[in-house]
Order: sequence, then structure tokens, then C-alpha cells
Amino acid sequence: MIPLLDLKAQYASIRAEIEPAVLQVLASTQYVLGEEVAAFEREFAGYCGTADAIAVNTGTSALHLALLAAGIGPGDEVITVPFTFVATVSAICYTGATPVFVDVDPVTLTMDPEKLEAAITTRTKAIMPVHLYGQMADMDAISDIARRHGVPVIEDACQAHGAEFRGRRAGSIGISGCFSFYPGKNLGACGEGGIVVTNDPRHAKKIRMLRDWGQSRRYHHDVKGFNYRMDGVQGAILRIKLRHLDAWTDARRRNAALYDQLLAESDIAVPPTEAVGRRHVYHVYAIRRPSREFLRARLDDAGVSTGLHYPVPVHLQLAHADLGYARGDFPVSETAAAEVLSLPMYPELTSEQIIQVVDAVHAAVREDADA
Ligand SMILES: *Cc1c(COP(=O)(O)O)cnc(C)c1O
Repeated sequence: MIPLLDLKAQYASIRAEIEPAVLQVLASTQYVLGEEVAAFEREFAGYCGTADAIAVNTGTSALHLALLAAGIGPGDEVITVPFTFVATVSAICYTGATPVFVDVDPVTLTMDPEKLEAAITTRTKAIMPVHLYGQMADMDAISDIARRHGVPVIEDACQAHGAEFRGRRAGSIGISGCFSFYPGKNLGACGEGGIVVTNDPRHAKKIRMLRDWGQSRRYHHDVKGFNYRMDGVQGAILRIKLRHLDAWTDARRRNAALYDQLLAESDIAVPPTEAVGRRHVYHVYAIRRPSREFLRARLDDAGVSTGLHYPVPVHLQLAHADLGYARGDFPVSETAAAEVLSLPMYPELTSEQIIQVVDAVHAAVREDADA
């Protein structure tokens, strides 16, 4: 079976570096925050081209604290997209604010700037585009609209470590950017992790306080905070993995280029391909097919694992029924949710495996056409 992702292959390649680093943290007893986490924060900020970075325990916590630092709370509206992982929307709800959706662009499947302006009200206090699959949203158009309305942009970059928009890194364009280090992400911890990057020292200071019980200094709790701290072991592991990230991203991009080339031989739709001026880091490589379930079953028979990112848009999730949206409200997201199919994508994927996947896709498409 060709897996959707292969964490064992990655671990095997860096085991000799990871194991001593973990043992060193265990011996140091800096189990929560500590020097390794602080060093990782500096290195990841450098990687993103931002002044600061604040490590937390998950990507969801990163989103939550970035929103709180921007002053978001009950009565406010935060604009995002329904075609995302549910955490984007949950983080908005944690603050007491109301998520407001705008549909995605049919080609990139990221926030459609043409639909953004109409969603802005006097209550809009932030805009949260999602850099879906590893490709950044149209940050020029979104930033322009945000600036005109005096609303900050917070980037959900949880799938987009190292992605670029006109040469600027994901997370560095908005007031802050949020990343996840869930194991399956392009940069993954051996457990949970997240980080907020920002150029704004006031935001950085607030987020640092909020992640550690609202302490301004030891025993002094200035605000009601959270326990959202990163583990020392994860900091040490992420420092090592960060040094490999560019090579892994290059491998993902090479794999995507081979998929693009081989799939072009059939009538399979392969958005979201890389838009002009953007550097896609291919967290997910998704194809589209109206008869997706048939294709998915045939690939499974052929030993190819696939994934769905995501089959139910957030506005149609039971958990968010209280927002009052209905089927038909975001047709681009709804069609994408019905059609997308994620193919195996990870740095260690070989050309032979990609050829095998594409052969299975072509065979299924031929069979589908004959049926
Ligand atoms: C993974 C992810 C998150 C949440 O990150 P966790 O570390 O799992 O909490 C949020 N938004 C998007 C788009 C994600 O892919």
C-alpha cells in the first residue's frame, strides 16, 4: 500500500540526530519551554522573516492567542472561509467572536478576495485567510481590502510552512501568522505543537503572557491566561527538523511537478496548482473528480491510500449549525468538498510510487468513462 504520508520514512532519515537531542532535554529537565524552545522560536522567526515567534502547544492555540492579542472577543466578527480544517473556525469561537464565511476562489481554493468586501461590517475585527494545502491566499488583494477597512489580517498558515507570496513568507504579511506542528504537517513535532509569528512587539508580548497563565513575571498574573506552552522535547525536535525543511519542501515540489506532468495526460482536473507569484509547499496534493467515490475505491483496490481535505465544509458541520448557514450558501466550497481527493504526498515519496499512483488514476478514469 502506498500511504498518504509516511512518517516512519522521515524518522528513519533523522533518527540519529533526534534521539540524542531528546535525551539531552530529558537530562536537562527543561521539560516545558526552556532553552530549546526559545532557540526554536528565534530560528523559526528567522525562517519566516519575522521579528518574533511565540511557541505554543498546538496550532489551534496559536490561532486562539493571535485572535486574543488582536483584541477579538464577544460581539466581534472574524471573516474566514468554510473550506478549511474545523480548527480555524473553532479558534474564532473560543474568543466569543462570530465566524463569518466568504467562499473560496475556484482555482486556488483559498479566500476569494472578490467576495470579501461584501462580508465586512462595522463589527468585523479581523480577517483570517487560510493558506490551504500549502498555497498562500491572495495576500495582496486581501491586505488591500483589510487596510482600507482598518481590519488586521491573521494568517492561518498551519499548512504552509515556508510558502511564499511574491517572495514573502507565509505568516509574515498579516499582523500575525499561525502554524501547526501536528506530526503530519510539513514541519511536524513528535506530538503536538504550534507557533505564532509576528513583527508587532505588542502582539508578541501579549501572546507570551497569554500562553503562560497571563504572567507578566513570575507570580504576577496580569490577564486571564492559558496553559498553552510548548514542551522542551518538541522544541529540540523541531529545531532539528527545521534544518531539513527546505530539502523536504523541494522534494514535495518535485513530487508535485511529476504528478502535474503525468496527470496532464488524462482529463483529471488538478487544481489547486501553483498560482503565479506564489510558492506552493504542497502539504496536500489534491485532484478533483465529480465521481470521487468511484476513483477513491479503485485507488484503494490498487493499493493507493487517499485522503479527503475536506469532505464537509465547516458551514455545514453540525457543530456550527448555530451560525445559521445552509447548503447553497458557499457553492464553490461545497463543490470542492464533494470533488477533492488527496493523493499520497510526502518528501520521501519516490518517482516509481508516483507513477504507480498515476497509472491507477488513469485506469480508474478510463473505467469510469466506459461505465
Ligand atoms: C492543522 C490545522 C490547524 C490546527 O492545528 P493543530 O496543531 O492540529 O491544533 C488549524 N488550521 C489548519 C488549516 C490546519 O490545517
